[in-house]
Amino acid sequence: MYTPFELEMPRSLADALDALGKGGDAAATPLAGGTNLIVDLRAKRERPDRIVGLGEVAELKGMEFGEDRISIGGATTVSDLLHSPEITEAAPSLAESARLFAGLMVRNTATVAGNIACGSPAADLVPPLLSLDAEVTLTSAAATRRVPLDEYFLGYRRDVRRPDELITRISWPRLPASSVNTFYKLARRKGDAITVTGVAVTIVAAGGICTRARIALGAVAPVVLRAKEAESGLEGRALTPAAIDEAAAAAARAASPIDDLRASAEYRLHTVEALVRRLVSQARDRLA
Ligand SMILES: Cc1cc2nc3c(=O)[nH]c(=O)nc-3n(C[C@H](O)[C@H](O)[C@H](O)COP(=O)(O)OP(=O)(O)OC[C@H]3O[C@@H](n4cnc5c(N)ncnc54)[C@H](O)[C@@H]3O)c2cc1C
Repeated sequence: MYTPFELEMPRSLADALDALGKGGDAAATPLAGGTNLIVDLRAKRERPDRIVGLGEVAELKGMEFGEDRISIGGATTVSDLLHSPEITEAAPSLAESARLFAGLMVRNTATVAGNIACGSPAADLVPPLLSLDAEVTLTSAAATRRVPLDEYFLGYRRDVRRPDELITRISWPRLPASSVNTFYKLARRKGDAITVTGVAVTIVAAGGICTRARIALGAVAPVVLRAKEAESGLEGRALTPAAIDEAAAAAARAASPIDDLRASAEYRLHTVEALVRRLVSQARDRLA
């Protein structure tokens, strides 16, 4: 069923990083919840010689809710997000994404780091995390660095992570009081379906003027991305219908979708524009 591999199950982060790095260029493959990797092993899309299981590494778990920043371990599961009242309160888009993610069994094992590292353009936790200005902490046996999630992806399933590094934490600043943060997953069914178009939005406003806009798009380009022209078009302006229409059109220009089994590229472009208009308009109404 699988091509043979060596499995190591370290019990600490230090041992996991040692195990990961010891092969040099032929570094081992990390295994978290396995909801992507096991499927890929069975299909023989992945044929690693060595796998390092992260299930017993306590340092990768746990969420911290500081006054200014929220930090979650890479092995935080989708169910952990869903059952956290603090996440619901401080990162509503992430909680909504967790609510709409797969089915119960997958949610109980699928991790946040695995969702980022798999590099899928349809990874549902990534648009919310981009809309929150999240950073990824990458740790190797030798060093730790923090990379803005916005700079993490280099192209389709390509990223800045070196083979000897793990995503150990994901963190983001708390949103100001006068803000709205939402996520919409458009899919062919309500449950357990791959996203056709995912949009996460953060709008911060003061005195009727938008002071910060984040618009992140999933499943409509080779990578999950921010629609930066749309964001900057809103910042410093009142959220008028004309400004919102312009932002929605700019967001569609940022997308480069493909036709696939789930939807045509044309439909995806239409839904990017419609969903951005809808989510930003709803944010304006809630902030008024
Ligand atoms: C039935 C089903 C439904 C699904 N539904 C959804 C859905 O609705 N939305 C969605 O976005 N995804 C969905 N997925 C895909 C998958 O569940 C997610 O991408 C999940 O978050 C992957 O996490 P994992 O812990 O299982 O990763 P794994 O499968 O263990 O690993 C995935 C990749 O990440 C790497 N990795 C894991 N942990 C780390 C780490 N700490 N540091 C560096 N690299 C690491 C692995 O080496 C591997 O390359 C679904 C999958 C299945 C089987």
